[in-house]
Amino acid sequence: PLAASPRRVPPALALTGIRHAYGAVQAVDGVDVAVAPGEVVCLLGPSGCGKTTILRLAAGLEDLQEGEVALDGQRVAGGGTNLAPEKRGVGLVFQDYALFPHLDVMGNVIFGLTGWPAGDRIARGVEVLEMVGLADMADAFPHELSGGQQQRVALARALAPKPRVVLLDEPYSGLDARLRDRVRDEVLHILKSSGSACLMVTHDSEEAMFMADRIAVMRDGRIVQQGSPADLYCAPADAFVAAFFGEVNLIEGRVQGAAVDTLVGTVASDGIADGTEVSVVIRPEGVRIEALSEGFSRDPCGEVEQARLLGRTSLVHLTMRGEGARLGESLHLHARVPGVFLPRPGTRVRVSVDPAQTFVFPANVPK
Ligand code: ATP
Repeated sequence: PLAASPRRVPPALALTGIRHAYGAVQAVDGVDVAVAPGEVVCLLGPSGCGKTTILRLAAGLEDLQEGEVALDGQRVAGGGTNLAPEKRGVGLVFQDYALFPHLDVMGNVIFGLTGWPAGDRIARGVEVLEMVGLADMADAFPHELSGGQQQRVALARALAPKPRVVLLDEPYSGLDARLRDRVRDEVLHILKSSGSACLMVTHDSEEAMFMADRIAVMRDGRIVQQGSPADLYCAPADAFVAAFFGEVNLIEGRVQGAAVDTLVGTVASDGIADGTEVSVVIRPEGVRIEALSEGFSRDPCGEVEQARLLGRTSLVHLTMRGEGARLGESLHLHARVPGVFLPRPGTRVRVSVDPAQTFVFPANVPK
């Protein structure tokens, strides 16, 4: 007998061929994103690249101009359809999606639990308020809360009905570092245990890496690369994506014999034609430095300009100076090294780079 073919589950949320303009500004310029049930996808990109617009289109807060939005395989916008936001059954946390001012915290949180037995509504309300650390503020009104507390109530309200799809726009932006770590831990746990699909917007790469199964890096209304956090961190498609995961060292150079000669050593550039102008990207954590015991080294050496302790790591600013044929050239580098490493300014150090943290991209590639 024929084996039954596994039934393909449609994405909980699928955006296909989305384009959107505000007047002459093409805010979203051809975007496809799908989020599977239980998956968290983060849109990551600089201010103004179109992240919020995508979320608003998915929610129905903005009328779709081109493309299609589908929930669980059912079209909700595009092709003549436009389901109202409240009929989409999607949990929303938006900056301008305010709490109901006339309802207390509990009232806000259980607002969407229509059809639930009364006892279950309160129990669920308490559960999600505990998750965001506000169980003791159930009776407060929105105007009595700080901005960060309001944001946490908005999160609790969005997650309370266990929606199939959750849309979060910078949901932790008003929270201080410690609270943010706790709340995002809880939110991730809730999303994963309820199997909700989540599309989230952030400009913070660390937050995206913490939350996301998949990250879509955006620039100018388009997705430039999509993949797991590890894919994007270990194999960025270009210097823009690489630079999104923390400040990087950028060195301009030219390929000669499958390598680029820099003041910090020769960097392999497999697959790029000789003579190509390139950008060499070196992450600060890929710059290794060692104090020089004697005054002379055959390896590239630099001079410490300043060193700062950041906590678990130290950030060291270095200058490398060219010798021989490269006399007169200089290069500034940032090195991030584990622990407390605070050499005095002027100290000479041996410098090498970790190939796994070094990337070579053709320069001036048109977008
Ligand atoms: P941020 O991180 O700053 O929120 P974003 O990536 O979310 O930015 P969007 O808010 O989607 O970006 O904006 C994309 C582009 O569309 C920007 O150039 C913005 O100025 C423009 N834009 C957004 N909303 C409107 C609007 N209501 N009217 C006109 N232009 C808009």
